[in-house]
Amino acid sequence: MAKIFCVANQKGGVGKTTTTVNLAAGLAKVGQRVLMIDLDPQGNATMGSGVDKRQLEMTVYDVLLESASVLEARVHSEKCGYDVLGANRELAGAEVELVDVERREKRLKLALAEVDSQYDFVLIDCPPSLSMLTLNGLCCAHGVIVPMQCEYFALEGLTDLVNTIKQVHANLNKDLQIIGLLRVMFDPRITLQQQVSDQLKEHFADKVFNTVIPRNVRLAEAPSYGLPGVVFDPASKGAQAFITFAEEMVDRIKAM
Ligand code: ADP
Ligand code: MG
Repeated sequence: MAKIFCVANQKGGVGKTTTTVNLAAGLAKVGQRVLMIDLDPQGNATMGSGVDKRQLEMTVYDVLLESASVLEARVHSEKCGYDVLGANRELAGAEVELVDVERREKRLKLALAEVDSQYDFVLIDCPPSLSMLTLNGLCCAHGVIVPMQCEYFALEGLTDLVNTIKQVHANLNKDLQIIGLLRVMFDPRITLQQQVSDQLKEHFADKVFNTVIPRNVRLAEAPSYGLPGVVFDPASKGAQAFITFAEEMVDRIKAM
């Protein structure tokens, strides 16, 4: 049975997409069977996995509207070693089109049942909002991975996300939990980042992943080549950190 994780944080630009594609590539490298789902109409995780969003005949949009199955809409990224259920701008319409349909927040969950036995991990890149799209992700997930930068206001946005997760847990998905906070774009030379990192560990204890993702220019360059950093430059510090994180995730799911 696949373990399903949402990568979520309603702030934009915090590293969700970078985390999703690099964790997917890292897990594939250590031998895990991975499906990456792009739930952001921007389609960055799709493009960043070597899949051209403009060429896709079917996307997660079709799956949400039940006009295609996951089996029909997924594609394989040869370069990255994982499957992709992609997204493009069309997905922005789903928000409105789902308003009047039944079990609208469970569409993705129902669709994933069909491929559950084919993967070890399903990773979902969420949009920067707590929308119906994100809700579809949270309803099918076992856990949420929250990438965050160790900055002064980092904890502020966390309250809304934690409350949403509590509500989804209470009403729609009792499996859901925050599996962990992932410190990303970390620069140990900046004292403030070190301080915020220490505070995070104090407050959230084992909910903070051991792995820390450093700020690394190779991770930022990789998307323009349509690749995760882990594939683009496996020897870089950023790529190495994501492979370590993939190993940490493999260990974590053994305990779930
Ligand atoms: P989100 O999906 O949350 O909007 P992204 O993953 O797109 O965030 O990251 C925002 C920007 O930061 C991108 O330009 C990305 O390349 C860059 N970035 C993300 N993580 C790192 C990192 N560890 N080091 C350097 N740049 C990073
Ligand atoms: Mg993104």
